[in-house]
Amino acid sequence: MSGPRKVAVIGAGPAGITAAYQLSKNKDIEVELYEAASSVGGLAKSIELWNQKVDIGPHRFFSSDRDVNSLWLEVVGEEYKMVDRLTRILYSNKFFYYPLKPFDALLNLGVFEAFRCMWSFGFQRFKKKPDQRTFEGWVIGRFGRRLFEIFFKTYSEKLWGIKCSELDADFAAQRIKKLSLLEVVKNALHLTKKGEHKTLVDQFAYPLRGTGMVYENMKERILANGGKVFLGSPVKKVLTTDKTATGIELESGEIKNFDEVVSSMPLTLLVERLSDAPKNIVEHVSKLTYRNTIMVYLQVDAIDLFPDNWLYIHSENLQVGRITNFRNWVPQLYGNEKKTILAMEYWCYEQDDFWSWSEEKIIELAKAEIKMTNLIGKAEIEGGKIVRIPRCYPVYSMGYKEDLKPVEEYLTGIKALSVIGRYGAFKYNNQDHSILMGMRAAENITEGKDHDLWDINTDYDNYQESYIITSTGLEKS
Ligand SMILES: Cc1cc2nc3c(=O)[nH]c(=O)nc-3n(C[C@H](O)[C@H](O)[C@H](O)COP(=O)(O)OP(=O)(O)OC[C@H]3O[C@@H](n4cnc5c(N)ncnc54)[C@H](O)[C@@H]3O)c2cc1C
Repeated sequence: MSGPRKVAVIGAGPAGITAAYQLSKNKDIEVELYEAASSVGGLAKSIELWNQKVDIGPHRFFSSDRDVNSLWLEVVGEEYKMVDRLTRILYSNKFFYYPLKPFDALLNLGVFEAFRCMWSFGFQRFKKKPDQRTFEGWVIGRFGRRLFEIFFKTYSEKLWGIKCSELDADFAAQRIKKLSLLEVVKNALHLTKKGEHKTLVDQFAYPLRGTGMVYENMKERILANGGKVFLGSPVKKVLTTDKTATGIELESGEIKNFDEVVSSMPLTLLVERLSDAPKNIVEHVSKLTYRNTIMVYLQVDAIDLFPDNWLYIHSENLQVGRITNFRNWVPQLYGNEKKTILAMEYWCYEQDDFWSWSEEKIIELAKAEIKMTNLIGKAEIEGGKIVRIPRCYPVYSMGYKEDLKPVEEYLTGIKALSVIGRYGAFKYNNQDHSILMGMRAAENITEGKDHDLWDINTDYDNYQESYIITSTGLEKS
């Protein structure tokens, strides 16, 4: 009689650790989770800083998938709070609500600029629709050129480092699909269906010990279920024989045999290191590009700076793209501390000069820029720390699918290998997408299901904000 099936999971970010957690519930499976870092959570981990807790940038959890919400609640229990959401855009020294509120936006822009936006929107109705395959064309088609320039162009170009005309509309379709000027106006005039509940626009669920708590709890449960978790154990490559995954090789040189491998390690590394990957597939994967983040944390001697969870910085004269105020999440993050931690996000490519700037130089830039925003008044900045996050945004540049598709097809042809995750599968995932990928990968293994893991994210309907919040979680309205 054969024993339990052995499964290796690579990476303990939301995707990998969810897969491992789900697999660990099955007594016919022996699961081992390998993580390169010294802690779990991947990009969604929380860290201790100046006696407070912070995330790697703002991490709002939301999902329109019932299974994902149930799993999240199963792991978090009662240890979360609904946080009132306030996020605004800082542009031209003024604050604009995000999601946009048309009357607020038009009032703030002033009569001349408001007229210009409306003219540009109206004019667009009579013009030939711009190329809908690009992000620029997609947004202009729905909002007009002037609103595009004010509310989409600068921020997107800071984030992606390429012109909006070179960015694939997939990005917009995933992240701002439900947003159109008409929808925004209907909301403002209260013409949409009224509900008693708040929606994801107003509130989000946040774990009391930071976003990383979700994945720390999963780790404890995997261990309690008899699974194994190896931290500080980077995987060098997945081993294959006759187009079937047979095990993994660790960076230490150790080789381990498995019946199944679930990978959330970087897609590029996975493919390049497969012993028999064809040359053309390696070439395709090498063309997929990623954007890096440098997160600058500043410790400010004040407790009441500005009310937003985070602010999008659209001003062209500032390099920073987003500023998070961790004082406005849950009090458990800062406890008795009387100082505020802000996180300022800067984006660049690995080959950019900026990526190799010294920590001191980057902190100086962040200090100068936070003062230029007038957000901290005369408050003292008492500390600075940076976290460099390589390759954290998969860039959907025009034509990326022509390189991704053959890679997907090639990997689908390798038996006993499941590929999931944000960097793992080159998907602009939020946590919920990665959690869902992990859940579905586990179901494929334990229940013999045939979920197409490459399809998760794009087949998600009503992604954005149309879900109500109840006291026990999230439900469709
Ligand atoms: C600044 C920022 C803000 C964000 N805000 C939000 C938000 O508000 N809401 C939201 O839901 N999501 C947000 N996200 C996205 C969220 O963090 C990701 O979707 C999620 O963490 C992806 O999970 P993952 O497991 O797919 O990948 P990752 O989190 O990248 O995890 C991959 C893991 O694999 C490990 N690994 C890599 N290579 C190897 C190897 N060779 N061997 C072993 N282990 C390896 C890594 O160390 C890492 O732990 C944000 C991300 C960033 C960067």
